[in-house]
Amino acid sequence: MNEHDAEKMSALLARSGLERIEEAKDADIVIVNTCCVREKAEQKFYSLMGRLRSLKRRKGVILGVTGCIAQSEKEGIGEKLPYIDFSLGPSSIHRITEAVEHAVRKARFFDFSDNGCTTSLAIEPGNPSRKIKAFVTIMKGCNNFCSYCIVPYVRGREVSRNSRDVVQEIEGLAAQGAKEVTLLGQNVNSYNKGVDDLSFPDLLKAINRIQGIERIRFVTSHPKDLSQGLIDCFGSLDKLCESIHLPFQAGSDKILNLMNRGYSTEGYLNKIRLLRERCPDIAITADCIVGFPGEEDGDFERTMELVREVRFDGMFSFAYSPRKYTAASSLPDAVPREAALERLARLQAVQKSITLEHNRSMEGKVVQVLVEDRSRNSEDEVMGRTRTNKIVNFKGSADMMGSLLEVLITKGYANSLRG
Ligand code: SF4
Repeated sequence: MNEHDAEKMSALLARSGLERIEEAKDADIVIVNTCCVREKAEQKFYSLMGRLRSLKRRKGVILGVTGCIAQSEKEGIGEKLPYIDFSLGPSSIHRITEAVEHAVRKARFFDFSDNGCTTSLAIEPGNPSRKIKAFVTIMKGCNNFCSYCIVPYVRGREVSRNSRDVVQEIEGLAAQGAKEVTLLGQNVNSYNKGVDDLSFPDLLKAINRIQGIERIRFVTSHPKDLSQGLIDCFGSLDKLCESIHLPFQAGSDKILNLMNRGYSTEGYLNKIRLLRERCPDIAITADCIVGFPGEEDGDFERTMELVREVRFDGMFSFAYSPRKYTAASSLPDAVPREAALERLARLQAVQKSITLEHNRSMEGKVVQVLVEDRSRNSEDEVMGRTRTNKIVNFKGSADMMGSLLEVLITKGYANSLRG
């Protein structure tokens, strides 16, 4: 989502004649778009700002900070980082050109308002004509208040975009050559909840009818909001890819309660069963946090059991780090860092072998691949993704870009496939 926000700001600045470049040292304006979901990202941000401060001293660049850290600090960021010229929260990125114009006139500019406005969601990123894959934000914010998560505090409450606008944007992207669309939101499953507009399954059906779009994906889903209507879309909408990211976070009900996740382990496993009944080939990925306050050895073992039972295709896993504002940051019984890291290493080792087994089981199969780019490994190879979102590298040339090809999988590795 942050990457998509960065693309939107880039598109707006390009419209006023600015050019995006790769290296901060060559820039006149440096904008740091931030994330504060994990403590590590926040630490990296402050050390980067230290380096950019000396760049500003040497070259006098305009320096701006956008995104979640800006929102969490609000006006305080101007005092904390007195050398920055502007700062915008995620809901104010549509004001980026105004912020830069102020900075050019040596006037500092700050905006952290979050009044439920969806202007920032509707900005179309640049160069869609060269994009085979497009990202479209359909909602923002979250009402769930999982006890460890800072998102509701920095991205605000849930607000959905009008379905007509979403469909129109995707029709435009398809007309410009997009084949795949990924719908973005903190919790796409509660799109338009309580609003008299299309539900999320109905939005998927409307997008499925758009000519030119061949593949539909979405992130992220909350298990408690995964409805039967949405599960039924898998296997019945031909363009909806057989892949879902469904974070479970922990395998122990005690920890799920402390996390305020709103479902039990059994409830989660039941959704997995329903998904696999409806769509046997669906690839399932997830997020998991280990070392949450109060997590004992037995709780962690239940997480390991769940991972072995579900056999996820892939997983993002992290050691818990407390975030400000959140309820979990004041919970007792913190797990010592070394114990959390040791659990994380065990979990990741098990998941790695499961992912490898999944990938090896693809050997000998012919699968549909959307060619996205040249391969990183070799000049005469291209890379693409299966409908189950697995990366495939195979011999090919630039003219294959954007094609949907049937590819024989010859080898499965830990992170990719060879075709
Ligand atoms: S549902 Fe996701 S975004 Fe919302 S509070 Fe929970 S973890 Fe954060």
